Amino acid sequence: MNLENVDRALDVAFSLDTIAILIIIAIAVFIVLIVVKFIKWLIGLFSYRNTSNEAYELSEDLQGGSHKYDVEANLDYALTSEGLLTKREQSFFHMLLPIAQKYNLYVAIKPRLADFIEVTLNRYAGGIESSGWHSSFNKIAQKHIDFLLCDLKTLKPLLAIELDDKTHLQDKVVERDEFVNNLYDKIRLSIARFEGYTKDEIEHAVLDAMVEAAMVSCENCDAQMKLRDGIHGYFVGCSSYPNCKRTLTIDSLLGEYYH
Ligand SMILES: [Zn+2]
Repeated sequence: MNLENVDRALDVAFSLDTIAILIIIAIAVFIVLIVVKFIKWLIGLFSYRNTSNEAYELSEDLQGGSHKYDVEANLDYALTSEGLLTKREQSFFHMLLPIAQKYNLYVAIKPRLADFIEVTLNRYAGGIESSGWHSSFNKIAQKHIDFLLCDLKTLKPLLAIELDDKTHLQDKVVERDEFVNNLYDKIRLSIARFEGYTKDEIEHAVLDAMVEAAMVSCENCDAQMKLRDGIHGYFVGCSSYPNCKRTLTIDSLLGEYYH
């Protein structure tokens, strides 16, 4: 083999190496592109997983996108078979209603807590929306009370009523009840919980709440006046009884503070 042949052989070997390297680089770039595409697809899959197609299409539509939100195709609704209240709630409501009417009260059915309770934190402290405000609001945004008795004239809430059933012994419900009880304590609204009940028990709770909300002080000793149950029926008496024996009739208290 002469020198010229060796040179040619080296040239051929060198160009074969270059081609092999170029092919490997091309394959590597191709694989990287496929992996990137796959990751993008995965991200897309997870980010839309929590959003319904309808909502996605609606938002696209609102943004002027190509998806058309089909209103008629998405009306998957019907009236509940029970109506507004369950059978159990209905029978309680029918016992409550005449009592409410007797004392000029309005019965709100299942209002949301956030409809009559507000968060006292400053929502936009320093121009930034407060996360504390949000977490407090979220605790009342999804909760409802079974019945809320309000003054018929002012619609000011006087008594919250919850019908308890067997579920109120479950841990999660106990936690919820505790939060709600503390909440009503804080906002100074009476709450009555009933599992079994009679007409008299409901009337007692209603009157008790009305006397509480009136916050009447005794004219003799300045102690708070409370609902009492005597042999002639309900009346209002000084809470420092027997030291102070001042009383008021229910009618005079209601007449002065409610109508
Ligand atoms: Zn007194």
